[in-house]
Amino acid sequence: MKKPVEWKRIASLFHPYWKQEVQVFAMIFLGALLGLIPPLCTLRLIDTAIPQNNFGSVCFYVGGMIAAALLAGLVGVYQGYLNSLVGEGIVRDIRSSLVSHLHRMPLDFFTSTKTGEIMNRVSSDVDSIDNVVTGTMVTVVTNVFMITTTLVTVFVLNWKLALLSIGIIPFMIFPIWPVGRKMYEVRKKTRQKRDEIEALTQETLSISGITLIKSFVREPYEHDRFFNVGTDLMKLEISLAMVGRWFMMLIAAMVTIGPAAVWLLGGWLAIQKTVTIGIVVTFTTLLNRLYGPASALAGVQVQVVGALAVFERIFEYLDMPEERCKSDGGAELAQVAGKVEFKHVQFSYSENRPALKDVSFVIEPGEMVAFVGPSGAGKTTITQLVPCFYNTQEGAVLVDDHDVKEMNLHSLRSNIGIVTQETYLFHDTIENNLRYARADATDEELFGAAKAANIHDFIVSLPEGYKTIVGERGHKLSGGERQRLAIARVLLKNPKILILDEATSALDSVNEALIQQAFVPLMQGRTSLVIAHRLSTILSADRIFVIEHGELVEGGTHSELIALDGVYANLYRQQFRERESESALLRLD
Ligand code: ATP
Repeated sequence: MKKPVEWKRIASLFHPYWKQEVQVFAMIFLGALLGLIPPLCTLRLIDTAIPQNNFGSVCFYVGGMIAAALLAGLVGVYQGYLNSLVGEGIVRDIRSSLVSHLHRMPLDFFTSTKTGEIMNRVSSDVDSIDNVVTGTMVTVVTNVFMITTTLVTVFVLNWKLALLSIGIIPFMIFPIWPVGRKMYEVRKKTRQKRDEIEALTQETLSISGITLIKSFVREPYEHDRFFNVGTDLMKLEISLAMVGRWFMMLIAAMVTIGPAAVWLLGGWLAIQKTVTIGIVVTFTTLLNRLYGPASALAGVQVQVVGALAVFERIFEYLDMPEERCKSDGGAELAQVAGKVEFKHVQFSYSENRPALKDVSFVIEPGEMVAFVGPSGAGKTTITQLVPCFYNTQEGAVLVDDHDVKEMNLHSLRSNIGIVTQETYLFHDTIENNLRYARADATDEELFGAAKAANIHDFIVSLPEGYKTIVGERGHKLSGGERQRLAIARVLLKNPKILILDEATSALDSVNEALIQQAFVPLMQGRTSLVIAHRLSTILSADRIFVIEHGELVEGGTHSELIALDGVYANLYRQQFRERESESALLRLD
């Protein structure tokens, strides 16, 4: 079903700028009146001043023409300034509300949408409505004013000629609708193609993408892919440029044919001495103020209908539901003790594929629990439900006996620190990346966190120290250094609950030891949920939870679980002992 056009919503974007808009209308009205002066001066010159041989009058009317033109120019400049103010203001408002809305969108939106598409909507789509919001309103109002004032003038001058002049206008207007519709369709396809291009650029020119291309020597393939999408876009842009060209040509012809018809009737009337030559000349001059605006209005309609495609894309994002957990309101906990409980939690990312089945456990404040299990068992999923990145379908996740769904998201997440395998750092200085956790941290706190994370000495050994730029996503640092920075960042945040996804990649023994040491202060005094890949971490855990096929199958200490001789004992024998001996060999190398 076709969605009705949300004119009210588009109009509401102008609301904060109504004062400027009133001024714009005043300027437009003034400009329209000033524009009438030169043709009326022409009438006086031809019919009065010149036949009476009165040079003084000639000078007066010429002066009037010049003054009106200059004043109209000044009015135009001020109006241009106001237009930019409103247009750019609206673009800023839409962009920031779109970005804030995206910040509040659930994680699964980001896992299922290409980053390039999101980028395209936030930057290029929003940019492209600038012209429409600034241009359209002004064009419509200016031209309506111009047409009205001109119509009144021509009817006062001669009604017969006036009737003939307006008789031509319908021919200029009626083919508009199909052209506008076509414009809308093509515009929509163009924007979708741009999404594709942006997504391709994003994927292939990111540091991970380019490394993949280079390692698989896929440059020629990527070139072809880009070229083909580029060709599709080229074709669409050409049809966009050509939409309505025939129609515009018709309008342009009418703008010339109209005055010719007036000359025919006007010439005959002048011969009959029913009208003066001045009136015929003034009429043909005034017709420009009638047909020009009429064709401009026709063009605006086409532009606006085309722009609706872009507005729809922006509104589509704005209308997507935000995270369902309480983002404002809800229980606020200043400082939690750190109890984490799962009560019969049932969760699936997509229908009929449960990722967690009836998971229940309690982790007491300050306890460290290691989650182990085969790949894809659901360990990461469990940790993502604690900060409410996703909502459980059944059962509840509780922090300090409060259902996370009922908690204020800000308050909940302020109490949770997360260190994942893939450390994300901004392309900024080390200091700013650390301060992302807490902008008001003192230098002592900053250095203290870096020291505890075993990264301070490394940082100060760099020529620029804490002011070193870490590069795109921190790629100027090694994996181990990035992870220690992430640990320092969480230490600075000082949360009560810690979620740690241990890196699976084998680090050299020095880096490994540095990270293991950094874990000690990281976990002290906190409830820790660790997705463990190393035997040393598992052995130091208070309890071990074994996850298999989305279920919690075993729980207890290492010796308890070994004694049970179940899944964990098997896993231990197969995986961890092997890995330990491998890394022991690695260290011997
Ligand atoms: P690993 O040790 O390999 O990281 P894991 O135990 O952490 O595995 P999860 O990442 O929790 O496993 O994944 C559990 C299941 O959910 C897997 O079958 C996975 O394919 C699926 N899954 C994970 N994330 C998503 C997602 N965003 N959308 C859909 N399915 C997902």
